[in-house]
Amino acid sequence: MIEILNDAGLARAKDTGALVGTILQAMKRRVKVGTNLLDIDRWTREMIEEAGATSCYVDYAPSFGRGPFGHYICTSVNDAVLHGLPHDYRLADGDLLTLDLAVILNGVASDAAISFVVGGRQAPADLALIETTERALAAGIAVAGPGVRLGDISHAIGTVLGQAGYPINIEFGGHGIGSTMHQDPHVANTGRPGRGYTLRPGLLLALEPWVMVDTAELVTDPDGWTLRSATGCRTAHTEHTIAITDDGAEILTLP
Ligand code: MG
Repeated sequence: MIEILNDAGLARAKDTGALVGTILQAMKRRVKVGTNLLDIDRWTREMIEEAGATSCYVDYAPSFGRGPFGHYICTSVNDAVLHGLPHDYRLADGDLLTLDLAVILNGVASDAAISFVVGGRQAPADLALIETTERALAAGIAVAGPGVRLGDISHAIGTVLGQAGYPINIEFGGHGIGSTMHQDPHVANTGRPGRGYTLRPGLLLALEPWVMVDTAELVTDPDGWTLRSATGCRTAHTEHTIAITDDGAEILTLP
């Protein structure tokens, strides 16, 4: 089902998006060398509860995971790229951390992710990887608007990733979002322009380019959730929730 929000729903979606963006930026400022992933999870829980919001993750139990997720944020480090289950690990100087967060506030969900390098040892290759996912996301958002086809967004994202030389995995990608976190349509991170669903005002999309330097293949950790690159290579992931408006698209998940 594809959900189209009315004006009241869109107003609520902006509040949820701002909360997600605010929490992610707060975590980015607070995370230091030596921060434990479980601390990030606890800080996130505190901010969600303080705002009167609800985690989309704690009770989340999809077919590809193992039971309820049980945590409030995804923390994926280095070769881990998606669904990183927080665990007892202290971040080291130079770790590439991805934080992915989705919450519901007033009945509307919002979803975003950021990648950044922890500490002062910022490897140029890591920064380039992160920048590519950010540029791919910006390219996807730039073409989004009413009357645009879903394939146009996928193509814009995939063009940036492909030109940077990264393989593209199409098992996981962006998605519609609204009263629940994951809805139709699926937004692959590569595709053919002029194809697929035609976007309408009131549609919310979570766009999320993610890459692994030298492989498109994922492996799952024994924890049943954390997805890593099959080769152990570095990874990055950037995501915003956007709303299709009458004349374009608006990013909702900014602080
Ligand atoms: Mg998402």
